[in-house]
Amino acid sequence: MEYAYDDQNIFAKILRGEIPNKTVYENEYALAFEDITPQAPVHVLVIPKGPYMSLDHFARDASVEEHSGFMQAVAEVCRLTGVEEGFRAIANTRAHGVQEVPHYHMHILGGRPMGRMLAR
Ligand code: 5GP
Repeated sequence: MEYAYDDQNIFAKILRGEIPNKTVYENEYALAFEDITPQAPVHVLVIPKGPYMSLDHFARDASVEEHSGFMQAVAEVCRLTGVEEGFRAIANTRAHGVQEVPHYHMHILGGRPMGRMLAR
């Protein structure tokens, strides 16, 4: 599969500092920030700093250091947002996954019971 990354997407602009964000956590490889339209009391997006358009792109092409740094950011987001009672992690991907922004992002949603995984 060819992964064509569009560096004009909104999260690329956030990474370049062209658009402000409410940062929750940042390290060398990842940035975590509040979703602009929160769907739960906790709604944070974790994104890699590298140019990956989707979870499968990141999984295939990112380095061990990028994977590790990303997951460290996920751990810090969970710690900082206090979601001990649980949360949901979502990575919407391309058309069938209804992905709006073509830069890989993991939604961390919590702060209340999240319901069943999928509406029927
Ligand atoms: P997707 O449908 O691609 O998984 O989710 C994209 C998410 O990005 C949505 O939840 C949307 O609210 C969020 N979003 C879109 N534009 C911006 C923005 O400019 N800033 C922030 N913080 N979130 C955004």
